[in-house]
Amino acid sequence: MAVPKKKTSPSRRGMRRSHEALRSEAYGECPNCGELKRPHHVCAHCGYYDGREVAPAADKALKGVVRI
Ligand SMILES: [Zn+2]
Repeated sequence: MAVPKKKTSPSRRGMRRSHEALRSEAYGECPNCGELKRPHHVCAHCGYYDGREVAPAADKALKGVVRI
């Protein structure tokens, strides 16, 4: 088993952990319905992406509508 030669100093440990902080999730406004949505993702509220409906809207999906 590979074993570290030296104990990691508090400074080194801190430098390694400087990249471990969690960031808040990015979001933007849906141009169709105005609901908040993730960038580059289909709107979960209205199912629109890039100006057209690509997925059934949340209320339609509950009825089991299948669109191809
Ligand atoms: Zn939307």
